[in-house]
Amino acid sequence: MSYGLAAAHDPSVGDYADTSPEDWGGTLERSTGFGPSSTDRESSPAYRRRGSACCARLFGFRMTMRRAAYTMVLMDPQYHETMMRQALELGAVADKEGDMGVGAVIVRDGRIVGRGRNRIHTGDPLVHAETDAIADACKALGTDDLSGSTLYTTMEPCPMCAGALLNVKVGHWVLGGRFKAVGRSFGKYSVETFAEFVGADITFTTGILQEDCQALRNRYFARK
Ligand SMILES: [Zn+2]
Repeated sequence: MSYGLAAAHDPSVGDYADTSPEDWGGTLERSTGFGPSSTDRESSPAYRRRGSACCARLFGFRMTMRRAAYTMVLMDPQYHETMMRQALELGAVADKEGDMGVGAVIVRDGRIVGRGRNRIHTGDPLVHAETDAIADACKALGTDDLSGSTLYTTMEPCPMCAGALLNVKVGHWVLGGRFKAVGRSFGKYSVETFAEFVGADITFTTGILQEDCQALRNRYFARK
């Protein structure tokens, strides 16, 4: 089965490792890539200017088409399920490690750029699946600005993670489990009330593999 870009960038391959800032619209110098030339014509400033302008247009067109295709992919519920399954796999690792089984991935332009899992009870109470994925994505992309990214998390982000996601500008949150459904209460908090409270323009997609996500998270409490 094909998921458009998901097929071209199979998340199971973990291809964020070869991600470079140029892939996300960084400087053009390296991607235009004019190498040493043996002819006067090719080394002339005019030739270089024409070549650079042409490559810049091609680069811009390629990025525009890529983002347009990715926008179409985001409308496909099966694409969200594919990415959520990646988050579930990470949550299963946390579960095996004895922690609460929550996992998260951050996706930009069809590629997984960050992966995370809960280590609340097995190492560091500040390392939740979302903050772990944020740190991973920032390291991979070399920036703390994750604008244009989508978060997939197996559980609704807690208030700490919601603040962290806001700080790094992740504007689309795709959720599996919900606190209300598993009986976890933060008072009046939900991701929706959070967005309203801080005045943030966040897009939410909810209910993706919700039962699977909640069942994985609840395994921790079943062991208690
Ligand atoms: Zn959290």
